[in-house]
Amino acid sequence: VSNMDVDVAIIGAGPSGAIAASLLRQQGHQVIVIEKQHFPRFSIGESLLPCCMQFLEQAGMLEAVNQAGFQFKNGAAFRHQGRYTTFDFNDKFTPGPSTTFQVQRADFDKLLADTAIGQGVDIRFGHRVDNIDLTENPRLTVTNEQGQQYQVNAKFVLDASGFGRVLPRLLNLEQPSNLPPRSAIFTHIEDNISDPSFDRNKILISVHPKHKDIWYWLIPFNHNRCSIGVVAEPHLLQHLSGTLEQQLLAIVNEEPELQRLLANANIVQPCATLKGYSANVTTLATNKFALLGNAGEFLDPVFSSGVTIAMQSASMAVASVNKQLNGQTVDWNTEYTEPLMQGVNTFRTYVQAWYDGRFQDVIFYQQANSKIKQMICSILAGYAWDMSNPFVKESERRLNTIVELCQEPNIA
Ligand code: FAD
Repeated sequence: VSNMDVDVAIIGAGPSGAIAASLLRQQGHQVIVIEKQHFPRFSIGESLLPCCMQFLEQAGMLEAVNQAGFQFKNGAAFRHQGRYTTFDFNDKFTPGPSTTFQVQRADFDKLLADTAIGQGVDIRFGHRVDNIDLTENPRLTVTNEQGQQYQVNAKFVLDASGFGRVLPRLLNLEQPSNLPPRSAIFTHIEDNISDPSFDRNKILISVHPKHKDIWYWLIPFNHNRCSIGVVAEPHLLQHLSGTLEQQLLAIVNEEPELQRLLANANIVQPCATLKGYSANVTTLATNKFALLGNAGEFLDPVFSSGVTIAMQSASMAVASVNKQLNGQTVDWNTEYTEPLMQGVNTFRTYVQAWYDGRFQDVIFYQQANSKIKQMICSILAGYAWDMSNPFVKESERRLNTIVELCQEPNIA
């Protein structure tokens, strides 16, 4: 093991790390990715949004993803107490891709990493970043699987470590999320769904019949498989007992339509749980490092925005790193943090309004004006940075106006 000097060191080879590495390589920079696991490895976050296809294209990975045979996705469906509504991403306000995929992340992340390697990116699997020294140029301390340590000297570091949150922990940047802690229990099933009206091209978000802030995802994959999960504040899951599998089955059966749909389903993977995953930081970037994707802020899974934010942040950070490496001055606050947060905060508005019920009223409102539905559809398709969409630019005000309309009995 020997120390090395690179232009950019990236921590983590998930979607944000792989996309960033590929884009930097395209610009001719010398990049190394340090990834503590070996791929394929399980990851949660399986329903993509069409917006992220743009970043796969920029990174020269679109063809590989299109060819991989993942389940096609063209929208999102929502169900609550007999009400069912769908958003077809083709019918959105913002230009750009309108379809995407539902992916087993073990395969998807490996495909992106392998494609980046094919483009000349150096990924060190099984190597872990343990420390960073920012006294001068960033210097990472890395440990390999033999326990040997070496240093990576870089001009810039991108933290793409996801829930590992390497730099927030090492640099003491962590800040509590403004969303209450929630838990998720999830697994993969052989779904055996026989109902011909079930639309495998859409994620199905079902709301618990009694508690509007408990919801379930059902994400169809290819080959008769689905990902299923439930999200709730922990006290609302306290009545469940037994193994995780028994708890998940019990709460799924509290939603009659899911119970009916999944009557012949079998669990094919150990159930897992994640608690308190929402996270925030005090600083997203300086002229020595930037946090990408979940290493920065993670909001909530309800609109499947995680991978899209991860890739958007990678693309935006690379533009600024490239500028800085070419000798120009970058104001990381106005050129990276603020524009990235614009979209993240748009999602935040809708996440908060989902849990307090306002956005659910909008989603299930049947008489929605088609132009407004297209604008909301754009956000659900991931285009949360499109400032020409009034529901992005003034998300809270616009949302409240439409909430009033939907709740007004005379108009309905
Ligand atoms: P990751 O994909 O997490 O990759 C980080 C990598 O860094 C890992 O491979 C890890 O091994 C590596 N690493 C960590 N620490 C170190 C270290 N010290 N040294 C070296 N390497 C390290 N998003 C969606 O888009 N759609 C969904 O449907 C969705 N559902 C979700 C459901 C739940 C319950 C939760 C909690 C999240 C969900 N998400 C979803 C979010 C999604 O999981 C993440 O946003 C996404 O995986 C972030 O990608 P990333 O590249 O930032 O990090």
